Amino acid sequence: MYIIMLGAPGSGKGTLAKELSKEYNLVHISTGDIFRENIKKQTELGKEADKYISNGLLVPDEITIGLVKSRLSEDDVKSGAILDGFPRTAKQAEELDMFIRKNNPINTVAVLLDIPDEDLIKRVVKRVTCSNKECGAIYNTEFRPSKVPGICDICGSKLVKRDDDNEETVRGRLKIYHDNSKEIIKYYEDKNILFTVKPNIYSPTVLEENISKVKGYLETHK
Ligand code: AMP
Repeated sequence: MYIIMLGAPGSGKGTLAKELSKEYNLVHISTGDIFRENIKKQTELGKEADKYISNGLLVPDEITIGLVKSRLSEDDVKSGAILDGFPRTAKQAEELDMFIRKNNPINTVAVLLDIPDEDLIKRVVKRVTCSNKECGAIYNTEFRPSKVPGICDICGSKLVKRDDDNEETVRGRLKIYHDNSKEIIKYYEDKNILFTVKPNIYSPTVLEENISKVKGYLETHK
């Protein structure tokens, strides 16, 4: 099964994707993580991607689509994957669809986390992530704090703030998200494979609620 996670920056799709990946034993592929890893290692891809990411822009389709197709061709994703942060443009959605149909035509669902912008801004500017890449746990200093401030509950590593998690960049990213997402959401709606969750981000158990809603949907759409 392929699970395509849709939602604005800060909607919680990364956290939910991680949990669903454990639940369904599917590899979690986050294009944002792949880009950040490449930026850190200063690879050619990283240097190119950084020009866009640091300005709050999308990395061009030519780069991103090739990257995802190549990742989806690896052996560990034969039974499917959770795609987090891809597709982000109509072109990416079409190319992904063609790729799946041609190479691995298994069940595909899209999960949309639908949250008002102002709530998202609050959520993103207070987001911190575990600096240990193997762990990658995500916290929010207001809504989902770690037990010890600045330290990951799971592995004890330092929690860090992403460079692009500031209000100005987030507003820019939200605008880009809205400009592109309408088409993508419609694309999956028309295919009848879209499941929309409207999370209550103020609930301390929002993650558990989201997991349970998605599991319920997947049970009836196998
Ligand atoms: P994320 O961690 O998903 O918020 O991604 C961080 C940044 O990486 C985004 O703001 C984009 O600049 C870039 N990025 C991630 N996924 C994509 C994609 N599918 N298409 C274009 N750019 C992307």
